Amino acid sequence: MAGSAIIRVKAIAIAANLTAPSPFMRSRRFLGDLALEEQWTPQITAKPTGKRILIVGAGPSGLSCAHHLALMGHTVEIHEAGPVAGGMMHFGIPSYRLPRNVLDGETARIERMGVKIVLNHKVEDIVAEKQNGKFDAVFVAVGAHLSKKTDIPARDAGKILDAVSFLKDVEMGNAPKMGRRVAIYGGGNTAMDAARVAMRLGHEPLIIYRRDRAHMPAHEFEADEALEEGVKIHWLRTIKSIDQTTVTVEVMEIDDKGRPKPTGQLETLEANDLILALGQDTDTAFLQKVPGVQFKADGTVIVSEQMMTRAAGLFAGGDMVPSERTVTIGVGHGKKAARNIDAYLRGEGYAKPGKKDLATFDKLHLWFYTNVEQRPQGHVELQKRRTSFDEVVQGLTEKEAAFEAKRCLSCGNCFECDGCYGACPEDAINKLGVGKRYEYNYDLCTGCAVCFEQCPCHAITMIPEPAPV
Ligand SMILES: Cc1cc2nc3c(=O)[nH]c(=O)nc-3n(C[C@H](O)[C@H](O)[C@H](O)COP(=O)(O)OP(=O)(O)OC[C@H]3O[C@@H](n4cnc5c(N)ncnc54)[C@H](O)[C@@H]3O)c2cc1C
Repeated sequence: MAGSAIIRVKAIAIAANLTAPSPFMRSRRFLGDLALEEQWTPQITAKPTGKRILIVGAGPSGLSCAHHLALMGHTVEIHEAGPVAGGMMHFGIPSYRLPRNVLDGETARIERMGVKIVLNHKVEDIVAEKQNGKFDAVFVAVGAHLSKKTDIPARDAGKILDAVSFLKDVEMGNAPKMGRRVAIYGGGNTAMDAARVAMRLGHEPLIIYRRDRAHMPAHEFEADEALEEGVKIHWLRTIKSIDQTTVTVEVMEIDDKGRPKPTGQLETLEANDLILALGQDTDTAFLQKVPGVQFKADGTVIVSEQMMTRAAGLFAGGDMVPSERTVTIGVGHGKKAARNIDAYLRGEGYAKPGKKDLATFDKLHLWFYTNVEQRPQGHVELQKRRTSFDEVVQGLTEKEAAFEAKRCLSCGNCFECDGCYGACPEDAINKLGVGKRYEYNYDLCTGCAVCFEQCPCHAITMIPEPAPV
């Protein structure tokens, strides 16, 4: 059976963006875990195309693009600056949210599909690299790794670090020496992760953020989990200055447009070191010399709807293009770019299939389904969380996965309940066998709509017959 590569990583990423993961996501995670355990490798049925594609960066976007291009029969080579594949999934997202054996397993699967990953190879001149390697197209996904800075008056201060370097150093086994209390400046996921990692290293982390909880960029669940673990969060505070053992902050207010406004009131917090988690910029300087490539003022690269830069055959995606910055988006960009690169190499345009109608709640027959309460997914015990990098959110057993799968409403998609087959008074519906659904005999069908009316998931649509000419 062919398992979709990076399915589990994507499942984690999507689940990470939801406060209540859907039954679909939970079951996908189970399948992803099983795929790793049993080493499933997708079978490539496409004929080799003889086309060579260079991918720059082995983060989620580059890996996803490689996976899809390999399935289409292309030869793919990834050039990665770092010592391992994974990008921010390896050096940003901590292992208690994305275990490294999972990440490595997903990468190994992509390599088993024939993708070549060249590590410790920073691309400086993309035009030369393309020519020398006889590549037909290039996908660039180098992420955003330059930490944003701010000027804070520091007198005789302890360490000031940036969050991405801190997380990377910890991941490489070089955790910096810091004092007991560590302040983290920022309100995004990176700030939450830096604080939770500092907690696991034995420090007392406190987050300082200029707005309130309702306006923080971090996911709700990340802030909840950080608070549960004992991280202190000082909302509505900006840092004015720091010294050896204290941080002076100014209390802020939120105005009616949700912007923080200074009040002039100062407070002192105890902290030995400061970690800045203020976001990242992308390092696209190496693309400046490529004729045609255009940039936004923040350094992100402008791409078309087809993910192509304004240089023909040079595509880009993930954190380095203007978009939301998540693994899910990066993986989606990789897939979209692969489809468009494939079409470009064939001298065609990729036509996106039309979307199916939305099957909204009012179109479903909810009585058909099992009505059960949502169950919280297993979490590692709190005390262990504070001191170890074990994965916090646990996977599902086969029984739990089957239960979650049964909760799925399968909206708009036939799941072969046989309702239409049983309801048709004219015997106009034939079963085609498991997984093959049904065949409708329109010579026998009278258009009574019984099948349509009973369908629990709205997989059947009634279309008016054309009026006789
Ligand atoms: C602390 C932290 C926590 C996060 N948590 C989440 C989360 O919970 N859920 C979520 O969805 N997202 C999360 N994100 C965001 C997510 O990690 C990124 O959006 C995603 O990794 C971007 O993917 P990418 O492939 O574009 O770039 P990256 O993952 O950054 O990968 C880019 C790769 O390109 C390589 N590279 C760079 N320059 C070159 C060059 N010149 N030549 C060759 N290789 C090069 C880099 O070494 C890197 O491996 C988090 C980010 C951080 C920092």
